[in-house]
Amino acid sequence: MKKYDYVIVGAGLYGSVFAHEAKKRGKKCLVIDKRNHIGGNVYCENKDGINIHTYGAHIFHTSDDEIWEYVNNFVTFNRFTNSPIANYKGELYNLPFNMNTFNKLWGVITPEEAKEKIEGQKQVLGGKTPENLEEQAISLVGTDIYEKLIKGYTEKQWGRKCTELPSFIIKRLPVRYTYDNNYFNDKYQGIPVGGYNKLIETLLEGIEVKLSTDFFKIKDEIVAISDKIVFTGMIDEFYDYKFGVLEYRTLRFETEFKETNNYQGNAVINYTDSETPYTRIIEHKHFEFGTGENTFITKEYPKEWEKGDEPYYPVLDEKNSLIYEKYKELSEKEEKVIFGGRLGQYKYYDMHNVIKAAIERIKEEFK
Ligand code: FAD
Ligand code: UDP
Repeated sequence: MKKYDYVIVGAGLYGSVFAHEAKKRGKKCLVIDKRNHIGGNVYCENKDGINIHTYGAHIFHTSDDEIWEYVNNFVTFNRFTNSPIANYKGELYNLPFNMNTFNKLWGVITPEEAKEKIEGQKQVLGGKTPENLEEQAISLVGTDIYEKLIKGYTEKQWGRKCTELPSFIIKRLPVRYTYDNNYFNDKYQGIPVGGYNKLIETLLEGIEVKLSTDFFKIKDEIVAISDKIVFTGMIDEFYDYKFGVLEYRTLRFETEFKETNNYQGNAVINYTDSETPYTRIIEHKHFEFGTGENTFITKEYPKEWEKGDEPYYPVLDEKNSLIYEKYKELSEKEEKVIFGGRLGQYKYYDMHNVIKAAIERIKEEFK
């Protein structure tokens, strides 16, 4: 018998939920992570009583009752509602695209007037079915919003022309003909009271964790001590890039301390022009309604991923999707390795999707 039933590579949400559920079913688990902390990308560093979202702003949202109940077993959530503001060359607009945005842009008052305006602008497509992000965006919100609020932001974020990006990326954003600035359509949303670290710490309670431990440096040892491996790192790295390197977008985070109790008046402000080199500024205290004297802000600068960078966003264009399919086919033949999470499945997963995927995999594993 091996020392562990499961060695889980990655102490992010997928790995932590999997480990928690396996332990509950009497299995012995070891979780390793190459970083020096648990939590993966939801990890926060607490400074002066403010939880700083070290790897970018994280807002939990879901419409799935089961997932909402599940996370509420471990933490409660505050009433934070994400309502980012877009700053286009000093003009401010509400997001997501809704009646407040349309009113500010065009002076329209009624949904009828807004629809008419967008319908008119859509005509440039000549009735064509959208085939890329640019066409999809124009078909949803017309050319003005595309030019001011989408094109610059998207091309900075992805480093690719909107005409070369898949349309599903823009479908993440709601378009509403109501005066509703809530960024998400989901039934539930919030930030864990006490921070995301508390969620992960509770999930991993009683489970052995080894940090600053890279799987690839001790692969043989891990194989020797584990019955099965749950791998939540990059799938192409696992296979030594044999079918090619999957591309990612990464971010450089620049965090600054500010001696003011309120720097920008909102948790998230997007800079949607193409000249500003960052995409957004996060003011962390607003996620938890912080009242302290000072504040921390973070600017997000997107860039192309190179080996050694953090792989944040899978680039789901045709080329990468085809490469991923080959890795996926190979991974499905593995009997002793389970691939999961944003990197293991090369998916633009949100937190609730990752939790759901881990729970479903557990159900399959223990059926
Ligand atoms: P990760 O959190 O990436 O965890 C994987 C872990 O594996 C990492 O800790 C890594 O160090 C470790 N690892 C990798 N390779 C190795 C190795 N070789 N050896 C050992 N360890 C290894 N979702 C939302 O729902 N709402 C949001 O607002 C939101 N905002 C986001 C903002 C940004 C900037 C980003 C990048 C993502 C955001 N997400 C958001 C998505 C969210 O971060 C993910 O869905 C979730 O964190 C993924 O969990 P995971 O366990 O799959 O991966
Ligand atoms: N987007 C945009 N303008 C904005 C915000 C988002 O054009 O002000 C587009 C952009 O292409 C982005 C996508 O919508 O990649 C999805 O946005 P979301 O906020 O969901 O991105 P994430 O939080 O994953 O970075």
